[in-house]
Amino acid sequence: MLLLKEVEIISVDGIVVSSTPFKENSKIINIFTKEKGIIGCVSKGCKKLKSPLRLISENFAYGTFHLYYKEDKLSTLIDGDIKNYLINSKSDIVKISYLSYLCELSVNVYKESESEDIYSLLEAAILKIEEGYNPQIITNIIELQYLKYIGIDLNLDGCVVCGNNKVVTLSLSKGGYICSNHRTNEPIIDEKVLKLLRLYNYVDISKITNLDIDNSISNEINRLINEYYDEYSGINIKSKKFLKDLE
Ligand SMILES: [Zn+2]
Repeated sequence: MLLLKEVEIISVDGIVVSSTPFKENSKIINIFTKEKGIIGCVSKGCKKLKSPLRLISENFAYGTFHLYYKEDKLSTLIDGDIKNYLINSKSDIVKISYLSYLCELSVNVYKESESEDIYSLLEAAILKIEEGYNPQIITNIIELQYLKYIGIDLNLDGCVVCGNNKVVTLSLSKGGYICSNHRTNEPIIDEKVLKLLRLYNYVDISKITNLDIDNSISNEINRLINEYYDEYSGINIKSKKFLKDLE
């Protein structure tokens, strides 16, 4: 019996996170969506200059995608509406590097957790970077907030051993803040860094209006987060190396 629901037309909000050339003028694009995760999709003829699918099939195209959807198979793009062209980000090599990294990281974290939150966090981060907020700080906030989805969140509510909220440093190996009683050989970390880590962990990215943080402080946070990812996440992202070179 033929199942009619095998192919359905759907409209989904999403962002193109990667693409590969397909035949002469087409591409296979991977769209990260809120409702259906990552959808592989043929975009026929999109490399032709006059194709109506050209812009919506570019990397980091962000909008609503209309497609013939086939679960677990390649879908076919019918049409799309761009929500935001991300012009500021796409014309800036530094910002576009952060976008590449964030997309790659989000796909990896999504594959581990399959949580709808990942898309919402990625979307909020991309829009903040486009608005002109410091991309390194936005990226660090996302990295910190993703930790719980890969099962290695840091305890930033009090000492990881006793719960005391008078903390003096952070221990990556113990997985959180440490009070003076439970500190062994961990170096002391600046109080501002400690406080901001907690703020990064809980802030609603879409509501950020002010990111006035000293470079020395934000760089220290970046260093700690990078070290934690390298040691404990098991996620290895190609585009991260490029970011580290930029920094
Ligand atoms: Zn303690």
